Amino acid sequence: MTKDTKTHIGIIGAGYTGLVAAYRLAQSGCQVTLLEKTNELGGLAADFKLHGAHLEKFYHFTYKTDNYLIDLIKELGLEETLHWHRSSIAIYYKGQHYPFMTPLDLLKFKPLSIFDRIRTGLIAFYLQRLTNWKKIASYTAYDWMTKFAGKNVRDIIWTPLLKGKFDKYYKDISMVWLWKRIKVRIDSKEKGEPTERLGQLEGGFYSITNGLVEKLHEYRVKIVTNAPVEKVIKNSATGEITVVTPKSEFQFDKVIITTPSPVAAEMLADNQEMTTEYLRKLNYVNYLGAAVFIFSSRQKLGDYYWYNINDPQASFLVFINLTKLVSTEKFQGNYVYYIGAYVPHDHEYFRLAETEIINRWVSYLKKMFPDFRDDQLLEKHLFRMRYAQHNMDVGYEQHIPSYTAPAKGVYLANFSQIFPDDRGLNYAVREGDNIAKLVLGDIRNEI
Ligand SMILES: Cc1cc2nc3c(=O)[nH]c(=O)nc-3n(C[C@H](O)[C@H](O)[C@H](O)COP(=O)(O)OP(=O)(O)OC[C@H]3O[C@@H](n4cnc5c(N)ncnc54)[C@H](O)[C@@H]3O)c2cc1C
Repeated sequence: MTKDTKTHIGIIGAGYTGLVAAYRLAQSGCQVTLLEKTNELGGLAADFKLHGAHLEKFYHFTYKTDNYLIDLIKELGLEETLHWHRSSIAIYYKGQHYPFMTPLDLLKFKPLSIFDRIRTGLIAFYLQRLTNWKKIASYTAYDWMTKFAGKNVRDIIWTPLLKGKFDKYYKDISMVWLWKRIKVRIDSKEKGEPTERLGQLEGGFYSITNGLVEKLHEYRVKIVTNAPVEKVIKNSATGEITVVTPKSEFQFDKVIITTPSPVAAEMLADNQEMTTEYLRKLNYVNYLGAAVFIFSSRQKLGDYYWYNINDPQASFLVFINLTKLVSTEKFQGNYVYYIGAYVPHDHEYFRLAETEIINRWVSYLKKMFPDFRDDQLLEKHLFRMRYAQHNMDVGYEQHIPSYTAPAKGVYLANFSQIFPDDRGLNYAVREGDNIAKLVLGDIRNEI
């Protein structure tokens, strides 16, 4: 990229897509202002401090296949701090913990008949090798698994996962989503190793966020936090774009919106150049929220890093023993755990008091781990986020809004557009890069 312009670009949203786009554009000589609704940077990967260490509010790790993110880590000089840990996964089903990582674990998984275990293995093998996702695009994951894995495998393995991830929409989710999830996990295995490797940085993802922010300072990007953008208005006569926040208005030549799509729809609705079709696509994207409870304890709980909770009565999807993956030394010798649930915006987890949710989840943990001790608990934190995961139903690909909005000079880049990939920091980095390239190309063509 050459330093060929002083176009003033406004970027809305300081998650990884916005941070990377701001970095690339400023690096290429543009004048950049980054507007963020909250008082922190990093979006879904934002962190807080626990026992003196930076920790993501929503559990994060890196896959071996996350090439865009790994390249950025190298570019920021953080490569030496990225460590690959062997993951371990268990399924919690009917009061039992079953290891679920290797073909041998599957063969020993008693809740399924031998026939179903073999069938599950063959299906995983088939899905790992499948490259043309269009072959399965007409199926929901629920129907595909019913047809090819059978009702038992569907109900014991897949339905709890789909329900935990998509709640009441679990029967609508495209098989392409499930295929991609399975494939990424299998591809993250080292050759010859039975289990996947997951990456963690010594300083947490905070070190990447901080590295990016340092770059933004170096390139004189103006960062404005506590700036919830309400409107983005294009003046068709002058070409200028006005971005409205409750406290101020900003004028830009070009604007990139990296917020969730329905939020972008609200910002853009009043524009003369906007089309009903583009607004329809923005509003088509349906997001679930996430509620995540983090606690630390002096007590070690469980032998695995990741527990899928395959109990239909459970009120959360996953229990994560972070200090199985990274050393307790990082947290002053304490163990750190996450509990996570994905729920629709009208779910009670967005209304209930924090203590109510925490109490429910802790009492469930006491069933999972009968020796659980309250007197060993140290810190407790609950975080909730409304736009955590989008629903990808069958035919989703036909409803994806384009990167260029109908109001010329306004662009959209968020994780709802990356189908068949699912969200992830790797793709946020890629999308940040790509949208910057697209904008720079348009600027050059206009000169
Ligand atoms: C529970 C959970 C676990 C995850 N685990 C992993 C993992 O292990 N590995 C991985 O790679 N990825 C993981 N992800 C996904 C990853 O966090 C996201 O893909 C990535 O952070 C998306 O970045 P983004 O910039 O596109 O969006 P976001 O991070 O959502 O950023 C959007 C930004 O826009 C801001 N914004 C919204 N409205 C406005 C407004 N009106 N005005 C101004 N700003 C606004 C938001 O505050 C936010 O900062 C996880 C996500 C969740 C929820």
